[in-house]
Amino acid sequence: MKRIVILGAGESGTGAALLARQQGFDVFVSDMGVIQPRYCAELDAAGVPYEQGQHTEALILNADEVIKSPGIPDKAPLVKALHAQGTPVISEIEFAGRYTRARKICITGSNGKTTTTLLTFHLLQGAGIRAALAGNVGTSLARQVASGNEPDWYVIELSSFQLDGMFDFKADVAVLTNITPDHLDRYDYQMQNYVDSKFRIVQNMTPSDYFIYCADDEIIEDEMKHRQIAATCLPFSYNHKVDEGAYVDQEQFHVTYKNHLMSILFKDLSLQGRHNIYNSMAASIAAQVASIRKDVIRQCLMSFQGVEHRLEKVLSVRAVEYINDSKATNVNSTWYALECMTRPVVWIAGGVDKGNDYSTLLPLAKEKVKALICMGKDNEKLKQSFGGVVPVIKETSSMKETLDVAYQLAEKGDVVLLSPACASFDLFKNYEDRGQQFKECVRNL
Ligand code: ADP
Repeated sequence: MKRIVILGAGESGTGAALLARQQGFDVFVSDMGVIQPRYCAELDAAGVPYEQGQHTEALILNADEVIKSPGIPDKAPLVKALHAQGTPVISEIEFAGRYTRARKICITGSNGKTTTTLLTFHLLQGAGIRAALAGNVGTSLARQVASGNEPDWYVIELSSFQLDGMFDFKADVAVLTNITPDHLDRYDYQMQNYVDSKFRIVQNMTPSDYFIYCADDEIIEDEMKHRQIAATCLPFSYNHKVDEGAYVDQEQFHVTYKNHLMSILFKDLSLQGRHNIYNSMAASIAAQVASIRKDVIRQCLMSFQGVEHRLEKVLSVRAVEYINDSKATNVNSTWYALECMTRPVVWIAGGVDKGNDYSTLLPLAKEKVKALICMGKDNEKLKQSFGGVVPVIKETSSMKETLDVAYQLAEKGDVVLLSPACASFDLFKNYEDRGQQFKECVRNL
């Protein structure tokens, strides 16, 4: 019997274990950390043996195939040993993809994945299509496949780490929002490795599949020149017209595909900001490809509720608006946040630097930021980068202190924007925790 080992028992690992068990494989789960009680209970109920707090090498190296959590780097000694002996190491999505016949819209990119995924899902649902979310958002694909209660379409958010473990998987519709440097520590600091990882989204595609991508992204455009993409390519652009795909024309965008034309004014979109016009164009093309009527697409673009921690308006306090963009964990996403600010900004940034180069933010900071609050354990780089550009720079080391300072600095008509451009792990559990604390402190002002 085929022996499958699953490394990491989070939502995706547990889902994979349940599916592997159901398929009749010999399954073993191993997690270096503590497995959440609800997952232990599920593994127990399914009769899947597991260990936590350790990896028993002898058992793991004996596997015929290993399903690895995207959080475990390829550089981990155990993974290296598996590669060295030729054991296939795959991701949960690759595994689950073997057992589903539902169609799949897969979304990746450095920024905008979650927003585009949720918006696309909203469009499908609005059209009455049986759709489900998977990947980085919601329930794992494997768990849903195992349940037997499958939708007609999955909308799957894929990180580059998940793509790295995908080989035979094929998307029916692939969306690539953009590519900017991120997570380079996991790619030997080689940008091309990261780009190659993102382009795995189009692997195995055929001409009856669709590749939706941002034609304004220089890295993607460059790659498109020398890659052979078998799928039908549908670009979206803010800067120029396209024959099929989506493009901006003054204060609206058009989606054109097979003689269908859908148009919507920016002011009617529920998601504001230039980056969200990109996300809205990408999701609208996917919806057109799924044969959704244009009036339904328009309605859904108007009614979408937005996503927590992404340019989320929290509250106005004494005519100062507080915006939570905690999910902006890299420089590029903060660029878009600053770009769409129309009032003077008290900007809260900082945290764990991922090799950031702040130079692209300098013009926007000069134009819009009246004060910068550096909130982190090590603020040197931020202070150096923006000293002389932003008139006031303060340092803080907790959210409460940060908001007290922001409250002092902000005047009527200003915006207080949390858009850190950094990871959160120095002072917070994760970006959600950072965003929650921000919102709580704002409400207590
Ligand atoms: P991801 O899932 O890729 O991290 P999100 O949709 O969660 O992306 O958005 C994260 C942050 O990135 C948002 O707070 C926003 O500031 C920024 N962002 C969203 N969409 C885009 C885009 N298309 N291009 C650049 N930045 C974006």
